[in-house]
Amino acid sequence: TPVIVAIDGPAGTGKSSTSKAVAAQLGLSYLDTGAQYRAITWWMVSNGIDIDDPSAIAAAAGKPEIVSGTDPEGPAITVDGVDVAGPIRTQEVSSKVSAVSAVPEVRARITELQRSIAASAEQGIVVEGRDIGTTVLPDADLKVFLTASPEARAARRSGELKGSDVHSTREALIKRDAADSSRKTSPLAKADDAVEVDTTELTLAQVIECVVTLVEE
Ligand code: C5P
Repeated sequence: TPVIVAIDGPAGTGKSSTSKAVAAQLGLSYLDTGAQYRAITWWMVSNGIDIDDPSAIAAAAGKPEIVSGTDPEGPAITVDGVDVAGPIRTQEVSSKVSAVSAVPEVRARITELQRSIAASAEQGIVVEGRDIGTTVLPDADLKVFLTASPEARAARRSGELKGSDVHSTREALIKRDAADSSRKTSPLAKADDAVEVDTTELTLAQVIECVVTLVEE
């Protein structure tokens, strides 16, 4: 039967790099659920929806058509047919995504999409996010929760973002994690049966090896 792996944790823990590499190594599909929340946020911003008005976001939640590719070697994402892989990574989207993804109508819509993608992955799938083990796929075969110190997370993230300093990156990450952890509907959380891996002192290669071993056990 297809294997389903849920990888959750805050930003900057190496979730995406790890999830893609594990999927590629094991011949599984890959789904970046953060990209889906970023895509719907990008659409809200592009269409002038007031991000501070949850009822406006809720009313628009069903409008954009979001399509996610599941190839770990080149994950694609489109909104109404437009490739948004680049635009969803801007600081503007990063600073607004927590507010949009806190709206229950947005979560219901995206969660349904995630479940149907996972159900149709014939070889199995690695799904990364914040609430995959707790809410989206509670019956996953393996649940991993990645953590790292705030310093390590900020350093990794500012290494990825050109022209950003570690201090402001750290502040932005902490703010986003606090918002993601405190929302009422399926917050960022470790499932009771998840394996927690602290990546602070590990290289990416070590984290990948650790997760591959857990899948194969
Ligand atoms: O993973 P990434 O940092 O790209 O996720 C962007 C944002 O999407 C998170 O900060 C969070 O607000 C939201 N998200 C979520 N649930 C998920 C994945 C992401 O609410 N499963």
